[in-house]
Amino acid sequence: MTKTPSIVDRIKSGDDRRIPFSVEFFPPRDEAAEARLWRTARDFEQLGPAFASITYGAGGSTRDRTVRITGQIAQETTLLPVAHLTAVGHSINELRAMVGSYADKGISNILVLRGDPPGDPLGEWEQHPEGVEYAEELVSLVRDLGDFHVGVASFPEGHHRSESLESDTKYLVRKLRAGAEYSITQMFFDVEDYLRLRDRVVACDPFEGAKPIIPEIMPITSLRSVRRMMELSGSKLPAALEERLTRAAGTGPEEDRAAVREEGIAYATEMGERLIAEGAPSLHFITLNFSRATREVLQNLGLAPAVALQP
Ligand SMILES: Cc1cc2nc3c(=O)[nH]c(=O)nc-3n(C[C@H](O)[C@H](O)[C@H](O)COP(=O)(O)OP(=O)(O)OC[C@H]3O[C@@H](n4cnc5c(N)ncnc54)[C@H](O)[C@@H]3O)c2cc1C
Repeated sequence: MTKTPSIVDRIKSGDDRRIPFSVEFFPPRDEAAEARLWRTARDFEQLGPAFASITYGAGGSTRDRTVRITGQIAQETTLLPVAHLTAVGHSINELRAMVGSYADKGISNILVLRGDPPGDPLGEWEQHPEGVEYAEELVSLVRDLGDFHVGVASFPEGHHRSESLESDTKYLVRKLRAGAEYSITQMFFDVEDYLRLRDRVVACDPFEGAKPIIPEIMPITSLRSVRRMMELSGSKLPAALEERLTRAAGTGPEEDRAAVREEGIAYATEMGERLIAEGAPSLHFITLNFSRATREVLQNLGLAPAVALQP
């Protein structure tokens, strides 16, 4: 397996004057969407993210595409890929094979997740009869398979299946103890939720609490889409943000996309400023495979070098 830098090394070896950032892509559904992803990847290459993570879908074809696209990012771009891997619908043998196919492509950074039931993410979770029940087991499995650098998910508002924030924290700490080197949060819109998560992890286990908790930011460009995403993840928009976006959307039959976008970018910038002031290790952006909104936020934060990109 080609030895690639770990995410923790990447985010720690950044420029002292600028906090590192990273980006999340999803596997494109058709050729046009794939062409757009490659344009976006080229744009980001010029902005120097610490890494690019690629999500892993619940359906079979998306999985194949995740593996292929992640491999191409490793082999054909200068971006450092992080492959997402979920346990949904996989036996342990299939999971081993999947990790092997990432290793064959020179990928050693894996974000280990349990995943959600296909169809209805909030529906009943069903373990594969020969699979794993929780992400913690998959962390151990991947670590046992070789020299992989593993990250896991964390949830500033608590995971929607967790009984309490205490149990949520306890199970996150178990994933870190099993060998995860860092976590990336679910997107959130209230920085206080991130700060409280960080405090809970440190209080639960100061050693594991020293591992980076990378906050995930999504610059909102559509009120309708963000509301749908929040429904699917079981989280909420803070009332003050909802009010700002609703005001920007206007009262017409269609939301005023330009005004919502402007408000969304302003809000993401404010979150970024606060997170930097609070000592976040780096910022991870959900890009939806576009570069412009993230780039504007990075420019507002002074994190994007001055390079001329496509409009
Ligand atoms: C940054 C990020 C990226 C993501 N990428 C993807 C992706 O690419 N594809 C995808 O399908 N989904 C993705 N997800 C969604 C994720 O798969 C779901 O949120 C899933 O429901 C939880 O995954 P997990 O790895 O946190 O699970 P787990 O850590 O297994 O936790 C699941 C639930 O079980 C509880 N729990 C954990 N261990 C135990 C235990 N031992 N006993 C009892 N309860 C326990 C937890 O508290 C939690 O409520 C992502 C989420 C994040 C935050």
